[in-house]
Order: sequence, then structure tokens, then C-alpha cells
Amino acid sequence: MKSIREALDLMMPAFTPVGVERVALADAVGRVLAEDVLGRSDLPPFSNSAMDGYAVRAADVASATAEAPAELPVRGESKAGGETPPALEPGCAMRIFTGAAMPAGADAVVMQENTRAEGEALFVLQAARVGENVRAQGSDLAQGAVMLARGCRLQGGELGILAAQRYASVTAYRRPMVAILCTGDELRDVSEPEAPGTIVNSNAYALAAQVAEAGGVPWVLPNVPDDLEVTVARLQDALRADLVITVGGVSVGEYDYVKAAFERTGVEASFWKVQVKPGKPLTFGRAGATPVVGLPGNPISAMVTFEAFVRPGLRAMQGDLRPHRLRHAVALAGPHRHSPGRPELARAKVVRGADGQLVAELLKLQGSGSLPSMVGVDALVMLPMGQKDFAAGEILQAVLLQDQTGAAEPAF
Ligand code: AMP
Ligand code: MG
Repeated sequence: MKSIREALDLMMPAFTPVGVERVALADAVGRVLAEDVLGRSDLPPFSNSAMDGYAVRAADVASATAEAPAELPVRGESKAGGETPPALEPGCAMRIFTGAAMPAGADAVVMQENTRAEGEALFVLQAARVGENVRAQGSDLAQGAVMLARGCRLQGGELGILAAQRYASVTAYRRPMVAILCTGDELRDVSEPEAPGTIVNSNAYALAAQVAEAGGVPWVLPNVPDDLEVTVARLQDALRADLVITVGGVSVGEYDYVKAAFERTGVEASFWKVQVKPGKPLTFGRAGATPVVGLPGNPISAMVTFEAFVRPGLRAMQGDLRPHRLRHAVALAGPHRHSPGRPELARAKVVRGADGQLVAELLKLQGSGSLPSMVGVDALVMLPMGQKDFAAGEILQAVLLQDQTGAAEPAF
């Protein structure tokens, strides 16, 4: 039986990008860049003033003070959107407005507030540093410099600058196709009529949603009865995907055929059990380069183990350099008792306390069969192995399921 970390360490190297493709900007949100993207033009495109005032040579006003102002004749004007101004004559100042082009020769802008104009003469009341109040050409982004690095997740800000730099499409990692293969004689689809002894295959929908949220393309195969031949045939079919998730049938019951089907289809298993609650019967193997994960059938276990063990891999398959959820310290809202045999990923609602501390309220129903207990869950809180009683206010580690930020290392 593997620990959570041992299992992740065995699994993560198997999740590698499955290819790249050209994606139009409008379709690229959430995708991960597969190439460095270089700036096409300088930002700002020309040096311009950050203030209303006077363009000068800093050296000409180096000793200016309110008591002993530097006196300069004003020659010309530069305004935003106007023509390129003439060069600044030595020893002179030029009237300039915010956003207007700096004249050649000028290297600073003196704020209007630090000057006094008398007719043609300008009195500068304060020294200026070279570059003061100047937005230098290329200072935000230099043409040819790396603007967005490979591995970067594309959100609004990234897409905005891509468009501004005239990129209509980018090379992104392909979204992996994820086969979801649910096993069990008892399963029927949501649209099928009720029948005694059957249950709706809810996992197919829950997991497909989790796959899509993580950036994969879910491919739900028809329900697989508890029959070895059918399981083998479906698994073979599923192996055309980039990642295969089987659900159920990995316990040690007489009708659990997933293990045998793995052997028959050439899936080399690296482990069958992970010391975690919920989810002990969790399998990982590979068929050639294709990772295959066997999740427990129990709906809560399936969803929680997907979150903890499959989601990071699925992110890594998309080239995400920070595939893990960020770890947060949370304070327990109330006391909690758990059976200390396995580390537990407890479902919780999270609020932020008055002092800014995240406070986690563990759900009363931590049983792994209770579907309503997955509704509106904000976080998984790690209850470490070996500790039975947890006090109110005790600080524990958690991942927030709604957050978008990643971390380079696993949270647990
Ligand atoms: P198993 O892992 O196959 O032993 O299944 C464990 C429990 O989860 C059983 O009560 C199953 O009926 C239930 N279960 C298995 N697969 C699914 C599924 N796809 N959707 C909903 N419940 C399931
Ligand atoms: Mg079963």
C-alpha cells in the first residue's frame, strides 16, 4: 500500500503532454502555451511623458531648487497624438503633455507643479533625474523579448497582450482525451427507466465534469457490466484515449474484473492501493505510454481520488508547470474526531474569519457513500494519520477546490 506522496511520485512522471496544436485566441482561454511567445513591438511604442510638464535634459536642471531655480527658455510643444516633436534644443525646455512623445535629446520631464512660467521663460524649482516621468520606449515590453513563456496558462491578461501584439493564434498543448469507463452490473444511465437493484451511473457525470474542469476532453464509454470479456474489450477500446479512468471493480469482490482486465490488455500496474480515506482501492498503471487510473466506484471516493490523484496529472498532460493545487492553512471551525488509521481528505466548507484566517467547517457526513455531501464542497482538508482528536482552531492543510492558482509541489 502506497502513501499519498509515494503514489503521486509514481504517477506524475507518466503524465506528459500529448501534443500541441494551433489555437485561435478566442478558443485559447484556459489552455497552456507550448512555445515562448516574443514581443512583436516595443511597449510603449515610443518614449512618452507620464505627466503634464516640461521635457528637459536632466543635466540642465541638476542644481535647481525652489530658492535657486534653473531658468530655461520654452521652445515648442509636444502633445498626445500630435506629430513627432522636433529635437529639444540644448539648454531649453519643451512643453509636453501626458502620453505625448518625448523630443529627441530630452531625458526627463519636470512636472508642471515643480515649475513657474513667466512669459517665454520657465523656472524649474526642483532637480530631475534622468528618466524621471518618462515612459521609455520598450520599457514594458521590448520587441523580441519573451512576452509569455512556455507553460503559461492563458487567461484574460495573457490573451489581451497577445491580441495587442497582433497574435491571432498560439501554439498550445492539446487537451488530452480522457476515457471514463464505469463498471458494474447495477449501473444504468440517467435516461434509462428505473429497475430493481440498479442505480444511476452518477460517476460518469461527476467525473466528466471534473475532467472538463481540469482541461481534458471527457469520453464516457457505455457502462460496462461485471464481465471479464466485456471489460477487456471496452478497456482495449478506451486505450485509444490519452488517459484512461476506470471506475469501480477494483476491490477484491468476486465481480471485480478490472484487475484481470488490466493484465489481459497489457496495463502494467504499479500499485493497487493507496493509504488514503476515502479511496483505498486506487490503481495506477500504464499501457505503453498511456496512463490508466482505476478509481474506486463509490461516488465520493471516485471524486475525491480524482481530485487528489488524477487532476494534477491531467494538468501536467497539458504542459502546466504548476499542476497542483495551492496549499492553504485552515483553522478548524469546531472539534472533530476521526479514525486515525489512514490520512483523510475531509470535505469542508470554507469561510474567511474576521482575522483573515481561512476557517474550515468539516461536513458532518464524511461517509464515502453520501452523494449530497459533495454538493458545494469548497475544500479538502488533510487529517493526518495517527491523530484521533482535532480541536477547534487547530491549523490543518487544505486545498481549495474553486481556486485557480497552482503550485509547483503537491499540497500533501
Ligand atoms: P465497486 O468499487 O465497484 O465495488 O463499487 C462501490 C460502490 O460504488 C457500490 O455501491 C457501487 O454500486 C457504487 N458505484 C460503482 N460505480 C458507480 C458509478 N459509476 N456511479 C455510481 N455509483 C457507483
Ligand atoms: Mg462494482
